[in-house]
Amino acid sequence: MSDTTGKRALRPATAMVHGGTMRSGFGETSEALFLTQGFVYDTAEAAEARFKGDEPGFIYSRYSNPTTRMFEERMMLLEGAEDARATASGMAAVAAALQCQVKAGDHIVAARALFGSCRYVIETVLGRAGVESTFVDGRDLDQWRAALRPNTKVAFLESPTNPTLEVIDIAAVAEIVHSVGARLVVDNVFATPIWQKPLTLGADVVIYSATKHIDGQGRCLGGVILSSKDWIDENLHDYFRHTGPSLSPFNAWTLLKGLETLPLRVRAQTDSAARIADHLAGSGKIARVLYPGREDHPDHAIARRQMGAGSTLVAFELSGGKDAAFRFSNALEVIKISNNLGDAKSLITHPATTTHKNLAPEVRAELGIGDGLLRLSAGLEDVEDLLEDLEAALAAV
Ligand SMILES: *Cc1c(COP(=O)(O)O)cnc(C)c1O
Repeated sequence: MSDTTGKRALRPATAMVHGGTMRSGFGETSEALFLTQGFVYDTAEAAEARFKGDEPGFIYSRYSNPTTRMFEERMMLLEGAEDARATASGMAAVAAALQCQVKAGDHIVAARALFGSCRYVIETVLGRAGVESTFVDGRDLDQWRAALRPNTKVAFLESPTNPTLEVIDIAAVAEIVHSVGARLVVDNVFATPIWQKPLTLGADVVIYSATKHIDGQGRCLGGVILSSKDWIDENLHDYFRHTGPSLSPFNAWTLLKGLETLPLRVRAQTDSAARIADHLAGSGKIARVLYPGREDHPDHAIARRQMGAGSTLVAFELSGGKDAAFRFSNALEVIKISNNLGDAKSLITHPATTTHKNLAPEVRAELGIGDGLLRLSAGLEDVEDLLEDLEAALAAV
């Protein structure tokens, strides 16, 4: 196997095509798919040396696999991280990244606007293990400061948030969290690795659901945890090997090929999302349009500072509540109703009755998730077709 990354630092689009490639002796053009559980050794001595760590090489695909490692290496180049571990889903990444660094008696602070399963991991799974938690309004820095305790080990946030696209000041939260020696973990799914680099903003660990933009074509689940080599060696390395949230080589191969087109896709989807946000805001028929790239977004100044562009998602509120939101969604023809995002296909979600239905009504109200709120993930279709689809749906409300 040979690594063909070369010596010069590559720009992101180039790194996503070539980075991390390990060619086998056949010299294949496309990355090879190593569908193997294990590896064989020439001699018993070679097996002993590999287990002792005296010789490099793969041991077992729960630990690592050549195809999975290519995906991790390419993600490390994109994120500017020293090391990474790929996981079977985004939630496996969140659960592993949090659980590997806490014990009973520790405390976690998290922004309250979270993907529902993330909240379950923190409150219920880690709560059962004796880890305490506090949820704060992520945009209010005083709430972060007030929530910190001597036993606070980890802070967790996502930005922009799901589904209302609030933007949290990652650098400011990192500074607050580090003042008590805790670590900041950022779920960067909504921002994408193209538009936001949490590690350079001061975060210690970044996680992705690779299911979203990184695959980007609706095929397989996956996740990844990225950090410094020290953090991974000290916290994640053994936890990962022994609990086995590993990504399958087949899915790693799919995601690796997804990375080749990620910069192009995210740019195109962001351009469409921005066009859609402006179009909806200008239509006069929408009560509220939420898009971090627009100047009327409440957190626009922070978004400009820490993100390279808006987002591939737009949220908007129809004044007729659930009835209007349902009629609007049902009238769409090109845009599909789905709870997923980051796909080549444009997808629309009614959070109050799907992704966020388990929240108490008062919590939903606190998070700004009204009955008329819709979340749109812009795909790769011609934006004119999307605008026409939205116009026709508006006429039906
Ligand atoms: C989808 C998603 C997850 C979970 O990822 P899966 O791959 O579905 O397990 C976590 N965080 C955010 C922000 C997500 O959008």
